[in-house]
Amino acid sequence: MSSLNVQTKQIYLQCVHCGHSMLYERPLAACTRCGENILKARYDLQMLRETNWIEKVKQREPGLWRYHELLPLHSTDNIVSLGEGGTPLLHARNLGMMLGLKNLYIKDERQGPTHSFKDRQASVAISVMREQGIGEAVLASTGNVAIAYSAYAARAGIKMWAFLTSMVPGEKMREAAIYGGEVIKVTGTYDQAKIVAESFARSKGLYMDKGIKSIAAVESMKTLAFEIAQQLNWRTPDWFIQAVSGGMGPIGVAKGFEELIALGLVDRMPALGIVQAAGCAPMINAYKGGRRVATPVENPQTLVATLSTGNPGRSYELLFDLINEHGGTMEDATDEETFNALRLLARTEGLSVEPATAVAFAGLIKLARRGIIKQDELIVINCSGHTFPVEKHILGDEYARNLDVSAQAHRISLPEEGLLSALEQMEERIHRIVVIEDNPDAGRLISRILKIQGRYEVHVASGGADGVVMVDRIKPDLVITDLMMPDVDGFSVINALKSDPNTATIPIIVLTAKELTVYERERLSGQIESLLQKGSFMDEQLLQSIIDALR
Ligand SMILES: *Cc1c(COP(=O)(O)O)cnc(C)c1O
Ligand SMILES: [Zn+2]
Repeated sequence: MSSLNVQTKQIYLQCVHCGHSMLYERPLAACTRCGENILKARYDLQMLRETNWIEKVKQREPGLWRYHELLPLHSTDNIVSLGEGGTPLLHARNLGMMLGLKNLYIKDERQGPTHSFKDRQASVAISVMREQGIGEAVLASTGNVAIAYSAYAARAGIKMWAFLTSMVPGEKMREAAIYGGEVIKVTGTYDQAKIVAESFARSKGLYMDKGIKSIAAVESMKTLAFEIAQQLNWRTPDWFIQAVSGGMGPIGVAKGFEELIALGLVDRMPALGIVQAAGCAPMINAYKGGRRVATPVENPQTLVATLSTGNPGRSYELLFDLINEHGGTMEDATDEETFNALRLLARTEGLSVEPATAVAFAGLIKLARRGIIKQDELIVINCSGHTFPVEKHILGDEYARNLDVSAQAHRISLPEEGLLSALEQMEERIHRIVVIEDNPDAGRLISRILKIQGRYEVHVASGGADGVVMVDRIKPDLVITDLMMPDVDGFSVINALKSDPNTATIPIIVLTAKELTVYERERLSGQIESLLQKGSFMDEQLLQSIIDALR
Protein backbone atom coordinates (compact mmCIF):
# COMPACT_ATOMS: atom_id res chain seq x y z
CA MET A 1 0.00 0.00 0.00
CA SER A 2 1.26 3.49 -0.81
CA SER A 3 1.72 6.11 1.89
CA LEU A 4 -1.62 7.30 3.28
CA ASN A 5 -0.23 10.73 4.01
CA VAL A 6 0.22 11.73 0.42
CA GLN A 7 -3.12 13.17 -0.54
CA THR A 8 -2.88 13.38 -4.29
CA LYS A 9 -6.28 14.16 -5.56
CA GLN A 10 -7.04 12.71 -8.98
CA ILE A 11 -9.73 14.60 -10.82
CA TYR A 12 -10.80 13.65 -14.31
CA LEU A 13 -12.92 15.43 -16.86
CA GLN A 14 -15.30 13.21 -18.73
CA CYS A 15 -16.86 14.14 -22.05
CA VAL A 16 -20.66 13.84 -21.97
CA HIS A 17 -20.68 13.05 -25.69
CA CYS A 18 -18.00 10.40 -26.29
CA GLY A 19 -17.16 9.44 -22.73
CA HIS A 20 -13.46 10.28 -23.17
CA SER A 21 -11.74 10.85 -19.86
CA MET A 22 -9.02 13.51 -19.42
CA LEU A 23 -6.88 14.20 -16.40
CA TYR A 24 -7.90 17.58 -14.97
CA GLU A 25 -4.89 19.82 -14.61
CA ARG A 26 -6.22 23.08 -15.90
CA PRO A 27 -9.66 24.13 -17.13
CA LEU A 28 -10.29 22.69 -20.59
CA ALA A 29 -12.66 24.33 -23.06
CA ALA A 30 -13.64 21.13 -24.85
CA CYS A 31 -13.12 17.37 -25.18
CA THR A 32 -9.68 16.73 -26.68
CA ARG A 33 -11.08 13.86 -28.72
CA CYS A 34 -14.44 15.05 -30.12
CA GLY A 35 -14.64 18.79 -29.37
CA GLU A 36 -17.75 18.54 -27.16
CA ASN A 37 -17.76 21.45 -24.71
CA ILE A 38 -19.76 19.91 -21.89
CA LEU A 39 -17.37 18.04 -19.60
CA LYS A 40 -18.11 16.57 -16.19
CA ALA A 41 -15.66 16.42 -13.31
CA ARG A 42 -15.13 12.90 -11.97
CA TYR A 43 -13.66 12.01 -8.59
CA ASP A 44 -12.75 8.74 -6.94
CA LEU A 45 -16.10 8.30 -5.20
CA GLN A 46 -15.47 4.63 -4.50
CA MET A 47 -12.38 5.47 -2.47
CA LEU A 48 -14.25 8.20 -0.54
CA ARG A 49 -17.04 5.76 0.19
CA GLU A 50 -14.65 3.10 1.45
CA THR A 51 -12.73 5.53 3.64
CA ASN A 52 -15.92 6.88 5.19
CA TRP A 53 -15.29 10.38 3.90
CA ILE A 54 -18.56 11.74 5.20
CA GLU A 55 -17.52 11.18 8.82
CA LYS A 56 -14.56 13.49 8.22
CA VAL A 57 -16.82 16.05 6.62
CA LYS A 58 -19.09 16.13 9.64
CA GLN A 59 -16.19 17.04 11.88
CA ARG A 60 -15.25 20.07 9.81
CA GLU A 61 -16.63 23.59 10.12
CA PRO A 62 -19.86 24.06 8.18
CA GLY A 63 -19.40 25.76 4.82
CA LEU A 64 -18.75 24.96 1.22
CA TRP A 65 -15.11 23.92 1.60
CA ARG A 66 -15.85 21.14 4.07
CA TYR A 67 -16.53 19.14 0.88
CA HIS A 68 -13.20 20.08 -0.73
CA GLU A 69 -12.38 16.52 -1.85
CA LEU A 70 -15.30 16.82 -4.28
CA LEU A 71 -14.39 20.28 -5.55
CA PRO A 72 -12.07 20.95 -8.51
CA LEU A 73 -9.16 22.39 -6.58
CA HIS A 74 -5.90 20.48 -6.14
CA SER A 75 -4.62 22.18 -3.02
CA THR A 76 -6.63 23.63 -0.15
CA ASP A 77 -3.88 26.27 0.14
CA ASN A 78 -5.51 28.02 -2.80
CA ILE A 79 -8.94 28.38 -1.23
CA VAL A 80 -10.36 31.91 -1.37
CA SER A 81 -13.16 32.05 1.17
CA LEU A 82 -15.45 34.61 2.75
CA GLY A 83 -17.41 32.05 4.75
CA GLU A 84 -19.76 30.91 1.97
CA GLY A 85 -22.13 27.96 2.18
CA GLY A 86 -23.49 26.38 5.34
CA THR A 87 -26.74 28.31 4.98
CA PRO A 88 -29.82 27.36 7.00
CA LEU A 89 -32.67 25.19 5.73
CA LEU A 90 -35.80 26.82 7.12
CA HIS A 91 -39.14 25.07 7.55
CA ALA A 92 -41.69 27.44 5.99
CA ARG A 93 -44.73 26.72 8.14
CA ASN A 94 -46.78 29.80 7.33
CA LEU A 95 -46.32 29.86 3.59
CA GLY A 96 -46.63 26.07 3.63
CA MET A 97 -49.96 26.30 5.42
CA MET A 98 -51.23 28.82 2.88
CA LEU A 99 -50.32 26.50 0.07
CA GLY A 100 -51.39 23.33 1.83
CA LEU A 101 -47.78 22.06 1.91
CA LYS A 102 -46.62 20.59 5.20
CA ASN A 103 -43.02 20.02 4.24
CA LEU A 104 -41.89 23.19 2.54
CA TYR A 105 -38.25 24.08 3.22
CA ILE A 106 -36.36 27.18 2.18
CA LYS A 107 -32.61 27.00 1.60
CA ASP A 108 -31.68 30.51 2.63
CA GLU A 109 -28.89 31.44 0.26
CA ARG A 110 -29.42 35.13 0.99
CA GLN A 111 -27.14 34.58 3.96
CA GLY A 112 -23.99 34.33 1.85
CA PRO A 113 -21.21 36.95 1.98
CA THR A 114 -22.62 38.95 -0.96
CA HIS A 115 -26.19 37.77 -0.37
CA SER A 116 -26.80 35.41 -3.25
CA PHE A 117 -25.95 31.79 -4.02
CA LYS A 118 -23.41 33.07 -6.56
CA ASP A 119 -21.04 33.25 -3.59
CA ARG A 120 -20.57 29.49 -3.90
CA GLN A 121 -19.65 29.81 -7.56
CA ALA A 122 -17.36 32.80 -6.93
CA SER A 123 -15.48 31.07 -4.12
CA VAL A 124 -14.73 27.98 -6.22
CA ALA A 125 -14.07 29.85 -9.48
CA ILE A 126 -11.74 32.43 -7.91
CA SER A 127 -9.91 29.70 -5.97
CA VAL A 128 -9.35 27.82 -9.24
CA MET A 129 -8.06 31.05 -10.84
CA ARG A 130 -5.63 31.51 -7.98
CA GLU A 131 -4.45 27.92 -8.32
CA GLN A 132 -3.95 28.42 -12.05
CA GLY A 133 -2.00 31.62 -11.50
CA ILE A 134 -4.54 33.79 -13.30
CA GLY A 135 -4.15 37.45 -12.29
CA GLU A 136 -6.76 39.10 -14.47
CA ALA A 137 -10.07 37.80 -15.80
CA VAL A 138 -13.20 38.78 -17.70
CA LEU A 139 -16.83 37.86 -17.07
CA ALA A 140 -20.31 38.73 -18.30
CA SER A 141 -23.13 38.88 -15.80
CA THR A 142 -26.76 39.69 -15.10
CA GLY A 143 -25.62 41.21 -11.81
CA ASN A 144 -24.92 38.82 -8.97
CA VAL A 145 -21.99 36.99 -10.53
CA ALA A 146 -20.26 40.34 -11.04
CA ILE A 147 -20.80 41.28 -7.40
CA ALA A 148 -19.73 37.93 -5.94
CA TYR A 149 -16.69 37.48 -8.22
CA SER A 150 -15.57 41.06 -7.59
CA ALA A 151 -15.62 40.50 -3.83
CA TYR A 152 -13.67 37.22 -3.98
CA ALA A 153 -11.31 38.59 -6.65
CA ALA A 154 -10.52 41.53 -4.37
CA ARG A 155 -9.55 39.09 -1.65
CA ALA A 156 -7.38 37.07 -4.03
CA GLY A 157 -5.77 40.13 -5.64
CA ILE A 158 -7.19 39.24 -9.06
CA LYS A 159 -8.30 42.00 -11.40
CA MET A 160 -11.85 41.49 -12.70
CA TRP A 161 -13.45 42.97 -15.80
CA ALA A 162 -17.22 42.65 -15.38
CA PHE A 163 -19.45 43.22 -18.41
CA LEU A 164 -23.01 43.89 -17.32
CA THR A 165 -26.14 44.29 -19.38
CA SER A 166 -27.67 47.75 -19.05
CA MET A 167 -30.79 46.03 -17.63
CA VAL A 168 -28.94 45.55 -14.34
CA PRO A 169 -30.00 48.13 -11.73
CA GLY A 170 -27.41 50.83 -11.11
CA GLU A 171 -27.16 49.85 -7.44
CA LYS A 172 -25.88 46.41 -8.38
CA MET A 173 -23.30 47.91 -10.72
CA ARG A 174 -22.08 50.16 -7.91
CA GLU A 175 -21.88 47.18 -5.59
CA ALA A 176 -19.68 45.29 -8.07
CA ALA A 177 -17.53 48.40 -8.57
CA ILE A 178 -16.98 48.97 -4.86
CA TYR A 179 -14.70 45.91 -4.75
CA GLY A 180 -12.38 47.56 -7.23
CA GLY A 181 -13.35 45.64 -10.37
CA GLU A 182 -13.77 47.30 -13.74
CA VAL A 183 -17.48 47.45 -14.47
CA ILE A 184 -18.50 47.86 -18.09
CA LYS A 185 -22.13 48.61 -18.79
CA VAL A 186 -23.15 47.21 -22.16
CA THR A 187 -26.24 48.82 -23.62
CA GLY A 188 -27.98 45.68 -24.79
CA THR A 189 -29.11 42.30 -23.56
CA TYR A 190 -27.12 39.87 -21.41
CA ASP A 191 -26.42 37.67 -24.43
CA GLN A 192 -24.96 40.69 -26.22
CA ALA A 193 -22.89 41.65 -23.17
CA LYS A 194 -21.48 38.14 -23.20
CA ILE A 195 -20.36 38.43 -26.83
CA VAL A 196 -18.72 41.82 -26.13
CA ALA A 197 -16.96 40.39 -23.07
CA GLU A 198 -15.66 37.41 -25.03
CA SER A 199 -14.19 39.53 -27.79
CA PHE A 200 -12.65 41.89 -25.22
CA ALA A 201 -11.01 38.93 -23.46
CA ARG A 202 -9.73 37.55 -26.76
CA SER A 203 -8.30 40.87 -27.91
CA LYS A 204 -6.52 41.46 -24.58
CA GLY A 205 -5.47 37.84 -24.23
CA LEU A 206 -7.27 37.55 -20.87
CA TYR A 207 -8.89 34.57 -19.18
CA MET A 208 -12.64 34.51 -19.78
CA ASP A 209 -14.77 32.91 -17.07
CA LYS A 210 -17.13 30.55 -18.87
CA GLY A 211 -19.81 30.87 -16.20
CA ILE A 212 -22.16 27.95 -16.38
CA LYS A 213 -19.93 26.12 -18.85
CA SER A 214 -17.03 26.14 -16.42
CA ILE A 215 -16.32 23.17 -14.22
CA ALA A 216 -16.01 25.42 -11.16
CA ALA A 217 -19.57 26.76 -11.50
CA VAL A 218 -21.37 23.42 -11.72
CA GLU A 219 -19.18 21.82 -9.07
CA SER A 220 -19.79 24.69 -6.64
CA MET A 221 -23.55 24.20 -6.90
CA LYS A 222 -23.23 20.54 -5.87
CA THR A 223 -22.54 21.73 -2.36
CA LEU A 224 -26.15 22.89 -2.16
CA ALA A 225 -27.22 19.27 -2.67
CA PHE A 226 -24.72 18.02 -0.07
CA GLU A 227 -25.93 20.49 2.52
CA ILE A 228 -29.61 19.92 1.81
CA ALA A 229 -29.25 16.12 2.06
CA GLN A 230 -27.36 16.44 5.32
CA GLN A 231 -29.83 18.97 6.76
CA LEU A 232 -32.66 16.56 5.91
CA ASN A 233 -30.79 13.79 7.67
CA TRP A 234 -29.73 12.07 4.43
CA ARG A 235 -32.98 12.25 2.66
CA THR A 236 -33.54 13.45 -0.90
CA PRO A 237 -36.32 16.04 -1.13
CA ASP A 238 -39.15 15.17 -3.51
CA TRP A 239 -38.61 18.52 -5.24
CA PHE A 240 -35.81 20.98 -5.72
CA ILE A 241 -37.23 24.25 -7.01
CA GLN A 242 -35.30 27.18 -8.38
CA ALA A 243 -35.68 30.22 -10.60
CA VAL A 244 -33.23 29.88 -13.45
CA SER A 245 -31.44 32.01 -15.93
CA GLY A 246 -28.69 29.80 -17.35
CA GLY A 247 -29.71 26.78 -15.25
CA MET A 248 -26.40 26.16 -13.54
CA GLY A 249 -27.94 25.82 -10.05
CA PRO A 250 -30.21 22.84 -10.69
CA ILE A 251 -27.67 21.18 -13.00
CA GLY A 252 -25.10 21.33 -10.22
CA VAL A 253 -27.59 20.22 -7.59
CA ALA A 254 -28.55 17.21 -9.73
CA LYS A 255 -24.89 16.27 -10.09
CA GLY A 256 -24.55 16.58 -6.32
CA PHE A 257 -27.35 14.10 -5.76
CA GLU A 258 -25.84 11.72 -8.32
CA GLU A 259 -22.62 11.74 -6.30
CA LEU A 260 -24.49 11.29 -3.02
CA ILE A 261 -26.15 8.22 -4.50
CA ALA A 262 -22.75 6.87 -5.60
CA LEU A 263 -21.48 7.50 -2.08
CA GLY A 264 -24.39 5.50 -0.69
CA LEU A 265 -25.70 8.47 1.31
CA VAL A 266 -29.10 8.92 -0.35
CA ASP A 267 -31.11 6.61 -2.55
CA ARG A 268 -32.69 8.74 -5.24
CA MET A 269 -32.78 11.95 -7.27
CA PRO A 270 -35.14 14.89 -6.60
CA ALA A 271 -37.66 16.08 -9.18
CA LEU A 272 -36.66 19.49 -10.53
CA GLY A 273 -39.03 22.47 -10.57
CA ILE A 274 -37.52 24.97 -13.01
CA VAL A 275 -39.08 28.43 -13.08
CA GLN A 276 -38.37 31.34 -15.41
CA ALA A 277 -39.70 34.87 -15.75
CA ALA A 278 -42.46 34.80 -18.36
CA GLY A 279 -40.86 37.70 -20.26
CA CYS A 280 -37.68 35.67 -20.75
CA ALA A 281 -38.61 32.00 -20.64
CA PRO A 282 -36.87 30.19 -23.49
CA MET A 283 -36.69 26.96 -21.47
CA ILE A 284 -40.32 26.96 -20.40
CA ASN A 285 -41.50 27.78 -23.93
CA ALA A 286 -39.56 24.85 -25.33
CA TYR A 287 -40.58 22.52 -22.51
CA LYS A 288 -44.27 23.27 -22.91
CA GLY A 289 -43.90 22.66 -26.63
CA GLY A 290 -42.24 19.31 -25.92
CA ARG A 291 -38.97 20.39 -27.58
CA ARG A 292 -35.47 19.41 -26.43
CA VAL A 293 -33.88 22.47 -28.03
CA ALA A 294 -34.79 25.98 -26.90
CA THR A 295 -35.34 28.94 -29.19
CA PRO A 296 -33.49 31.96 -27.78
CA VAL A 297 -35.50 34.99 -26.62
CA GLU A 298 -34.01 37.98 -28.44
CA ASN A 299 -35.59 40.74 -26.38
CA PRO A 300 -36.29 39.84 -22.76
CA GLN A 301 -39.44 41.61 -21.50
CA THR A 302 -39.15 41.40 -17.74
CA LEU A 303 -38.12 43.58 -14.83
CA VAL A 304 -36.22 40.62 -13.44
CA ALA A 305 -32.81 41.42 -14.96
CA THR A 306 -31.06 38.66 -13.02
CA LEU A 307 -32.92 36.08 -15.08
CA SER A 308 -32.46 37.64 -18.48
CA THR A 309 -30.44 34.92 -20.20
CA GLY A 310 -32.19 34.81 -23.57
CA ASN A 311 -30.16 31.90 -24.92
CA PRO A 312 -29.81 29.00 -22.47
CA GLY A 313 -27.83 26.94 -24.98
CA ARG A 314 -27.22 23.32 -24.10
CA SER A 315 -28.01 23.62 -20.41
CA TYR A 316 -31.68 23.45 -21.34
CA GLU A 317 -31.07 20.04 -22.91
CA LEU A 318 -29.41 18.83 -19.72
CA LEU A 319 -32.36 19.98 -17.61
CA PHE A 320 -34.85 18.54 -20.09
CA ASP A 321 -33.12 15.15 -19.86
CA LEU A 322 -32.93 15.29 -16.06
CA ILE A 323 -36.66 15.98 -15.81
CA ASN A 324 -37.49 13.21 -18.26
CA GLU A 325 -35.42 10.78 -16.29
CA HIS A 326 -36.16 11.75 -12.69
CA GLY A 327 -39.35 13.81 -12.83
CA GLY A 328 -40.14 17.45 -12.41
CA THR A 329 -41.53 20.23 -14.55
CA MET A 330 -40.95 23.73 -15.88
CA GLU A 331 -43.16 26.74 -15.20
CA ASP A 332 -43.09 30.46 -15.81
CA ALA A 333 -44.22 33.42 -13.70
CA THR A 334 -45.27 36.89 -14.81
CA ASP A 335 -43.68 39.92 -13.16
CA GLU A 336 -46.97 40.58 -11.38
CA GLU A 337 -47.10 37.05 -9.96
CA THR A 338 -43.46 37.50 -8.98
CA PHE A 339 -43.95 40.72 -7.05
CA ASN A 340 -47.02 39.30 -5.30
CA ALA A 341 -44.99 36.27 -4.26
CA LEU A 342 -42.19 38.55 -3.09
CA ARG A 343 -44.50 40.43 -0.72
CA LEU A 344 -46.21 37.25 0.45
CA LEU A 345 -42.90 35.57 1.32
CA ALA A 346 -41.69 38.62 3.23
CA ARG A 347 -44.91 38.90 5.24
CA THR A 348 -45.40 35.25 6.04
CA GLU A 349 -41.83 34.06 6.59
CA GLY A 350 -39.82 37.22 7.24
CA LEU A 351 -37.65 36.70 4.18
CA SER A 352 -37.02 39.65 1.92
CA VAL A 353 -35.76 38.43 -1.44
CA GLU A 354 -34.77 39.86 -4.78
CA PRO A 355 -37.27 39.56 -7.65
CA ALA A 356 -35.30 36.70 -9.27
CA THR A 357 -35.82 34.61 -6.15
CA ALA A 358 -39.50 35.51 -5.96
CA VAL A 359 -39.90 34.01 -9.45
CA ALA A 360 -39.24 30.59 -7.88
CA PHE A 361 -41.86 31.20 -5.21
CA ALA A 362 -44.39 32.37 -7.79
CA GLY A 363 -43.76 29.12 -9.66
CA LEU A 364 -44.11 27.10 -6.47
CA ILE A 365 -47.49 28.71 -5.77
CA LYS A 366 -48.74 27.82 -9.25
CA LEU A 367 -47.51 24.23 -9.05
CA ALA A 368 -49.04 23.73 -5.60
CA ARG A 369 -52.37 25.17 -6.67
CA ARG A 370 -52.50 22.88 -9.68
CA GLY A 371 -51.75 19.86 -7.53
CA ILE A 372 -48.55 19.11 -9.47
CA ILE A 373 -46.75 19.40 -6.16
CA LYS A 374 -48.56 17.17 -3.69
CA GLN A 375 -49.48 18.13 -0.11
CA ASP A 376 -47.19 15.65 1.63
CA GLU A 377 -44.18 16.05 -0.61
CA LEU A 378 -40.95 17.42 0.75
CA ILE A 379 -39.98 20.53 -1.13
CA VAL A 380 -36.75 22.49 -0.99
CA ILE A 381 -36.74 25.84 -2.71
CA ASN A 382 -33.61 27.84 -3.41
CA CYS A 383 -33.94 31.24 -1.77
CA SER A 384 -31.26 32.46 -4.11
CA GLY A 385 -30.75 36.13 -3.28
CA HIS A 386 -31.56 39.02 -0.95
CA THR A 387 -33.67 42.05 -1.85
CA PHE A 388 -31.32 44.23 -3.68
CA PRO A 389 -31.70 47.24 -2.95
CA VAL A 390 -35.38 47.78 -2.45
CA GLU A 391 -36.41 48.75 -5.92
CA LYS A 392 -39.34 51.11 -6.38
CA HIS A 393 -41.63 48.56 -7.93
CA ILE A 394 -41.35 46.17 -5.01
CA LEU A 395 -43.12 48.24 -2.41
CA GLY A 396 -44.61 51.09 -4.42
CA ASP A 397 -44.22 54.60 -3.10
CA GLU A 398 -46.30 54.18 0.02
CA TYR A 399 -44.37 51.68 2.04
CA ALA A 400 -43.92 54.18 4.86
CA ARG A 401 -46.63 56.18 6.48
CA ASN A 402 -45.99 59.86 6.86
CA LEU A 403 -46.70 61.25 10.22
CA ASP A 404 -46.18 64.98 10.45
CA VAL A 405 -46.26 66.31 14.00
CA SER A 406 -44.24 69.45 13.38
CA ALA A 407 -47.39 71.63 13.53
CA GLN A 408 -47.94 70.59 17.15
CA ALA A 409 -44.34 71.12 18.10
CA HIS A 410 -45.08 74.28 20.05
CA ARG A 411 -47.29 72.39 22.51
CA ILE A 412 -44.25 71.21 24.38
CA SER A 413 -46.18 70.40 27.55
CA LEU A 414 -48.18 67.52 26.04
CA PRO A 415 -46.31 66.03 23.13
CA GLU A 416 -48.25 62.77 23.25
CA GLU A 417 -51.50 64.52 22.69
CA GLY A 418 -50.22 66.03 19.45
CA LEU A 419 -48.95 62.67 18.31
CA LEU A 420 -52.20 60.94 19.06
CA SER A 421 -54.35 63.45 17.31
CA ALA A 422 -52.06 63.35 14.32
CA LEU A 423 -52.41 59.56 14.31
CA GLU A 424 -56.17 59.80 14.53
CA GLN A 425 -56.36 62.21 11.65
CA MET A 426 -54.28 59.90 9.56
CA GLU A 427 -56.35 56.76 10.09
CA GLU A 428 -59.73 56.28 8.56
CA ARG A 429 -62.16 54.16 10.54
CA ILE A 430 -60.66 50.90 11.72
CA HIS A 431 -62.72 47.93 10.64
CA ARG A 432 -63.44 45.29 13.21
CA ILE A 433 -63.24 41.69 12.14
CA VAL A 434 -64.09 38.50 14.02
CA VAL A 435 -62.23 35.40 12.83
CA ILE A 436 -63.75 32.04 13.85
CA GLU A 437 -61.13 29.36 13.43
CA ASP A 438 -60.42 26.31 15.58
CA ASN A 439 -56.86 25.71 14.32
CA PRO A 440 -54.74 28.12 16.41
CA ASP A 441 -51.96 28.32 13.81
CA ALA A 442 -54.39 29.21 11.06
CA GLY A 443 -56.11 31.73 13.36
CA ARG A 444 -52.81 33.43 14.12
CA LEU A 445 -51.83 33.48 10.49
CA ILE A 446 -55.08 35.04 9.27
CA SER A 447 -54.99 37.55 12.06
CA ARG A 448 -51.42 38.45 11.20
CA ILE A 449 -52.20 38.96 7.52
CA LEU A 450 -55.02 41.29 8.50
CA LYS A 451 -53.10 43.20 11.12
CA ILE A 452 -50.17 43.85 8.79
CA GLN A 453 -52.57 45.96 6.77
CA GLY A 454 -52.84 48.24 9.81
CA ARG A 455 -56.50 48.93 9.11
CA TYR A 456 -58.18 46.11 10.92
CA GLU A 457 -58.91 45.28 14.51
CA VAL A 458 -58.96 41.50 14.65
CA HIS A 459 -60.61 39.22 17.24
CA VAL A 460 -60.13 35.48 17.00
CA ALA A 461 -62.66 32.96 18.40
CA SER A 462 -61.44 29.39 18.67
CA GLY A 463 -64.76 27.67 18.00
CA GLY A 464 -68.26 28.11 16.60
CA ALA A 465 -70.07 28.66 19.90
CA ASP A 466 -67.54 31.23 21.15
CA GLY A 467 -67.65 32.85 17.76
CA VAL A 468 -71.38 33.50 17.79
CA VAL A 469 -71.15 35.01 21.29
CA MET A 470 -68.20 37.18 20.25
CA VAL A 471 -69.96 38.46 17.13
CA ASP A 472 -73.01 39.34 19.17
CA ARG A 473 -70.91 41.25 21.70
CA ILE A 474 -68.52 43.04 19.32
CA LYS A 475 -70.83 43.65 16.36
CA PRO A 476 -67.93 43.55 13.91
CA ASP A 477 -67.98 44.88 10.37
CA LEU A 478 -67.10 41.44 9.04
CA VAL A 479 -66.95 37.78 10.08
CA ILE A 480 -64.47 35.30 8.65
CA THR A 481 -65.28 31.71 9.58
CA ASP A 482 -63.95 28.23 9.09
CA LEU A 483 -66.48 25.51 8.21
CA MET A 484 -65.08 22.41 9.87
CA MET A 485 -65.06 22.91 13.62
CA PRO A 486 -65.58 20.28 16.27
CA ASP A 487 -68.20 22.04 18.43
CA VAL A 488 -70.53 24.20 16.37
CA ASP A 489 -69.58 24.03 12.69
CA GLY A 490 -69.51 26.92 10.24
CA PHE A 491 -72.90 26.15 8.72
CA SER A 492 -74.54 26.45 12.14
CA VAL A 493 -72.60 29.66 12.89
CA ILE A 494 -73.90 31.19 9.66
CA ASN A 495 -77.46 30.09 10.45
CA ALA A 496 -77.27 31.54 13.94
CA LEU A 497 -75.89 34.88 12.75
CA LYS A 498 -78.32 35.20 9.84
CA SER A 499 -81.38 34.42 11.95
CA ASP A 500 -80.54 37.00 14.64
CA PRO A 501 -81.65 40.50 13.54
CA ASN A 502 -78.72 42.00 15.50
CA THR A 503 -76.17 40.21 13.37
CA ALA A 504 -78.07 39.32 10.17
CA THR A 505 -76.53 42.07 8.05
CA ILE A 506 -72.90 41.44 8.96
CA PRO A 507 -71.09 40.14 5.90
CA ILE A 508 -69.46 36.70 6.20
CA ILE A 509 -66.48 35.20 4.41
CA VAL A 510 -65.99 31.44 4.61
CA LEU A 511 -62.48 30.10 4.61
CA THR A 512 -62.35 26.34 4.31
CA ALA A 513 -60.04 23.46 3.62
CA LYS A 514 -63.01 21.24 2.81
CA GLU A 515 -64.01 20.33 -0.74
CA LEU A 516 -67.66 21.37 -0.73
CA THR A 517 -70.43 19.22 -2.17
CA VAL A 518 -73.00 20.75 -4.49
CA TYR A 519 -75.54 20.60 -1.66
CA GLU A 520 -73.21 22.42 0.73
CA ARG A 521 -72.50 25.14 -1.80
CA GLU A 522 -76.23 25.64 -2.19
CA ARG A 523 -76.65 25.96 1.57
CA LEU A 524 -74.06 28.74 1.59
CA SER A 525 -75.21 30.61 -1.47
CA GLY A 526 -76.89 33.93 -0.70
CA GLN A 527 -75.71 33.66 2.90
CA ILE A 528 -72.09 34.63 2.51
CA GLU A 529 -69.96 37.15 0.65
CA SER A 530 -67.33 34.79 -0.57
CA LEU A 531 -65.83 31.37 -0.21
CA LEU A 532 -62.07 30.93 -0.09
CA GLN A 533 -60.35 27.62 -0.33
CA LYS A 534 -57.75 27.16 2.39
CA GLY A 535 -54.53 25.61 1.28
CA SER A 536 -54.69 27.70 -1.84
CA PHE A 537 -55.81 31.04 -0.56
CA MET A 538 -53.45 33.93 -0.81
CA ASP A 539 -53.34 37.01 1.31
CA GLU A 540 -54.12 39.22 -1.68
CA GLN A 541 -57.19 37.16 -2.41
CA LEU A 542 -58.34 37.27 1.19
CA LEU A 543 -57.81 41.02 1.43
CA GLN A 544 -59.62 41.65 -1.82
CA SER A 545 -62.61 39.69 -0.56
CA ILE A 546 -62.57 41.69 2.65
CA ILE A 547 -62.42 44.99 0.83
CA ASP A 548 -65.30 43.89 -1.40
CA ALA A 549 -67.33 42.68 1.58
CA LEU A 550 -66.84 45.89 3.53
CA ARG A 551 -67.81 48.07 0.60
C1 LIG B 1 -28.09 33.56 -10.93
C2 LIG B 1 -29.30 33.63 -10.14
C3 LIG B 1 -30.39 32.81 -10.43
C4 LIG B 1 -30.40 31.85 -11.59
O1 LIG B 1 -29.46 30.85 -11.42
P1 LIG B 1 -28.98 29.80 -12.52
O2 LIG B 1 -28.98 28.49 -11.85
O3 LIG B 1 -27.63 30.25 -12.93
O4 LIG B 1 -29.91 29.85 -13.67
C5 LIG B 1 -31.50 32.88 -9.58
N1 LIG B 1 -31.53 33.74 -8.54
C6 LIG B 1 -30.51 34.57 -8.26
C7 LIG B 1 -30.62 35.48 -7.10
C8 LIG B 1 -29.36 34.54 -9.04
O5 LIG B 1 -28.35 35.35 -8.75
ZN1 LIG C 1 -15.68 13.73 -26.44
